[in-house]
Amino acid sequence: MALDGVAEFGPVDPCREAGEDAAGQQGPDPADAGGLGDPDGSRELDVGQPGVRDQRVDDRAVDLVDRCGRARRGAWWEWARVVRHDVTLGARRRRIRECRRHRCVYLRDYGDNLADYRHSSMRADTFAVHAGREDLVGLGVHVPPIDLSSTYPITDLDAGGAAYETLAMGGRGEDAATLVYQRLWNPNVDRLERALARLEGTEEAVAFASGMAALTATLIACVAAGKPHIVAVRPLYGGSDHVLATGLLGTEVTWATPTTIGDAITDRTGLVLVETPANPTLDLVDIAAVVAQAGQVPVMVDNTFATPVLQQPRRQGATLVLHSATKFIGGHGDLLGGLVAASPEWAVRLRQVRALTGALLYPLAAYELHRGLQTLPVRVRAQQDNAIDLAGWLAAHPAVEKVHYPGMPGADPAGLLGRQLAGPGAVLAVAMRGGFDAAAALVQRTRLVTHAVSLGGVDSLIQHPASLTHRPVAAEAKPHPNVLRISVGLEDVRDVIADFDQAFAAVAEHGLVGASRR
Ligand code: PLP
Repeated sequence: MALDGVAEFGPVDPCREAGEDAAGQQGPDPADAGGLGDPDGSRELDVGQPGVRDQRVDDRAVDLVDRCGRARRGAWWEWARVVRHDVTLGARRRRIRECRRHRCVYLRDYGDNLADYRHSSMRADTFAVHAGREDLVGLGVHVPPIDLSSTYPITDLDAGGAAYETLAMGGRGEDAATLVYQRLWNPNVDRLERALARLEGTEEAVAFASGMAALTATLIACVAAGKPHIVAVRPLYGGSDHVLATGLLGTEVTWATPTTIGDAITDRTGLVLVETPANPTLDLVDIAAVVAQAGQVPVMVDNTFATPVLQQPRRQGATLVLHSATKFIGGHGDLLGGLVAASPEWAVRLRQVRALTGALLYPLAAYELHRGLQTLPVRVRAQQDNAIDLAGWLAAHPAVEKVHYPGMPGADPAGLLGRQLAGPGAVLAVAMRGGFDAAAALVQRTRLVTHAVSLGGVDSLIQHPASLTHRPVAAEAKPHPNVLRISVGLEDVRDVIADFDQAFAAVAEHGLVGASRR
C-alpha cells in the first residue's frame, strides 16, 4: 500500500496512532481483498448503531475495515468521523476516516474527477489562513490594518478625477492614484475579496453589504446589459426567490427544474441561478449538467451552504459563485455580508453596480469576514462531523418522518457527494411526523439549540422555513409545513442530541408526536 502525501498530512495512520500497525491490520492491499472497492451492496449489514439497522443502505455505502481486518459495509454517515488522510491504493484514490466509536478505519473512494482534490483542499486550508495577507510582513504588521477612511486626500486634482472615474466604472484600487471615497474602494474589503477568490478558484470576488445585496447587484448587472430574463431552479433561499418572483429589479423569472433549464433559456436570458445544497431542503443540483444546458448563459451557484471548503462551483464551470457571508464565512452570527466570486469582467460590472448603488460591505465587517476565512475549513469540518452524528440520530427517531441531508438514502441520486460536494455540510432539515403542529412545538422546546433564522455559526440554530425564511415563497414552492431547518454548530454534539431528546420528549408529552426513544 503506497501512502501518498504522508509527509504533507502529518500523523497519517489512524491505527498507528492507536498503537497498531495499519498494514498488518489491513493485510495486503485491501483493494484486492474482495471487500473493499466492491460496489455490490448485497452483503449483510453491520451498521453497529442501535436504531439504524433498518436504514436502507444506498449506493453511498462504504466498506469498512475493522480492527481485525474484516471488511464490513455500512452507510457512510454512520461511520464518518474525522478525515485522517488520503491514500493511493493500487490505482484508486481513497480517503481514510477513523471511526471514533470503534477506533477502526474505513476507506471511501473519491470520484475520478476529484483525484486532485486533496491537493487543492490542502492548499485551500493554507490560503484560508494566508490569502489577502501577503504584504503584511513588508508592512511590518501581523494582522491587516483596518482602514475606516470614508474619504481620501486628493493631492492632485487631475489624478484624483482620473481615479474617481476608474473606480466608479468598476476599476481596481491599484490602478487609481487615490482611493477617493470608501464607496469606491476599501483596502480591507479588497483583502477579503482576494482571499475568497483564492478559495473559490476564481480570479476575483466582489463583496457587498449582505448576500441579498450581492444577488441584487448581479441581477442589476443583467438588466443593465439588456438580459433581464433569469432562469432559476427552486428551492432557493426565500429572499432570493422573493426578489425574483416580484420582479422588483426589472428581471423576469422562469422557474425551471435542473433538467428543463435548456428549454427555458432565450436570447434575453442573462443568468441561470441555482443553489446547491439548496435552502432549506438540501437538494443537490449537478452544476456541470446545469452549465452544459446553459450554454453561453452564465451560471451563478449559491454556495452558501457548502462553502469553498466543500464545493468550488467554478470547477464545474459556473461563472459566478454567490455567498451569504453572513453564514459560515462570518461564522459567529455577528455580522452581515455577501460575496460574488467571479471573472475580472464580471467583477468590473459588479463593482460598478456597488459603487453606484452603495451596497457596500463596511470595512470592519470585511476585516472580521477575512479573519473568519482563516478558521472556515476547521469550523466547517467540525460542524459537519456534528451534523453527521445528529442526522444519524434524527433519522432513527420515531418522531421524524425524514431527514433531508446529502448522503441520506435517496438524497443524492446523481452521486454528487464526493464528486462535486466533498462532504454533506453542517445544515440539515427534518420533516416531522405530526405536521406543522409538531414542528412548531419542537422549535419552542429546544433549550440549547436556539430558535432563530440564519445558519453557519458556531452555535446550533433551528427554524421553521415555511413561516420564516421561506415565508414569501409561492405556495407551490414553499417548504412543507412539517419541515424544520437545523444549522449544527460547534457544541459537543452529545449535548445537542440531548437537547433534541428532551425537546422531542416534551412535545410527545403534549400528544403531538410519537414517544421519545427513552
Ligand atoms: N443565500 C442563501 C442560501 C441564504 O441562506 C441567504 C440568507 O439566509 C442568502 C442568500 C441571503 O443572504 P443575507 O441574509 O446575507 O442577505
